[in-house]
Amino acid sequence: MKDINSQSIQTLERMISGSGRICIVTHMKPDGDAIGSSVALYHYLRMCGKTGVKIILNDRHPGYLSFLTADMPREDLIIHKELPAEAEICLGDCDLMFCLDFNAFHRTDKLEGALKASKADKILIDHHLNPDTEVFDLIFSESDISSASELLFHILMETKMIAHDATMLPAGSATALMTGMTTDTNNFANSTFPSTLRMASSLLAAGVDRDMILSNLYNQYSENRLRLMGHMMKDLLTITADGVAYIVLDKKTQEAYGISEGDTEGFVNMPLSIADVRMSLLLKEDEDRVRVSIRSKKGTSANACARKYFNGGGHENAAGGKLMIPDDIECIGAAAGYIETFTHKYLTEDEIS
Ligand code: 5GP
Ligand code: MN
Repeated sequence: MKDINSQSIQTLERMISGSGRICIVTHMKPDGDAIGSSVALYHYLRMCGKTGVKIILNDRHPGYLSFLTADMPREDLIIHKELPAEAEICLGDCDLMFCLDFNAFHRTDKLEGALKASKADKILIDHHLNPDTEVFDLIFSESDISSASELLFHILMETKMIAHDATMLPAGSATALMTGMTTDTNNFANSTFPSTLRMASSLLAAGVDRDMILSNLYNQYSENRLRLMGHMMKDLLTITADGVAYIVLDKKTQEAYGISEGDTEGFVNMPLSIADVRMSLLLKEDEDRVRVSIRSKKGTSANACARKYFNGGGHENAAGGKLMIPDDIECIGAAAGYIETFTHKYLTEDEIS
């Protein structure tokens, strides 16, 4: 891993030991990898004797991840959407900031202004393509890796405190790292590298309870979620002649099923099980925008499609973005036409050029 070497680890350790107030930030709508890496780093820094460590989130994580934060003191996890002033003060006051699982400040939504204004040293630990290298003081950026959680694991293993012995990790870190890697690989279905399995093996040997993690991640959903999934796959799924599968989930349907944030996690992958489907899109209507998730099979770039037509980006085969109403589309009813037009253009003109 190109960014992990004795010099970068020494710099990291020096920055940590020279700091008192440390903020950990991650991307908006935090997923398992965002929360997993943040919580893992939090417990590691606490073990290093740091008492002033805060995790600052733009918005609250979904309920199925709350088992990772349940034992944290309330004042150490600050949600900007709920306590904006407190979040801004912490971001303004800290002398070290860790940026996990995102590649550019705008991915933190409402935290962006405070991040830009901050004089703190900033350390990036991330696995997305095209990091904004200018704004960070120390960069750990690898894209041939499963997750930010995996990258953090390999970094921590090199530190003096852990010294290549996963049993030295605080239990909260080990569980959170396994969780973040598990959700980003879709439980070892994608982005699984030899290094990913080595990490999983070390964490299991160190005593991580994987059954507990899987039960929290995949077996605690509401009945409505499964019923919505049935409705989406039976009634809302369209497949184009180019092999693009898409589903548009409007607000009315979300409300009818009473689903909450995180409930549609994983649905976008399902149409890829169809032989002729090359790319799958899930569009979810939000306040003034439509959130877009894109997944693709090898040979088709979800990242390029998200960047070109959906104001976003991500990884080669898993990306996301947004369509603004009314700038990109007039209303949610126009989403299907937009997808059909631009994915056709993308697959027939852009991809082959
Ligand atoms: P998801 O579909 O699970 O929301 O996101 C899949 C991947 O795309 C994640 O790695 C995420 O970081 C990235 N992604 C999602 N939304 C956006 C976006 O609006 N902009 C960018 N640049 N990346 C995104
Ligand atoms: Mn990630």
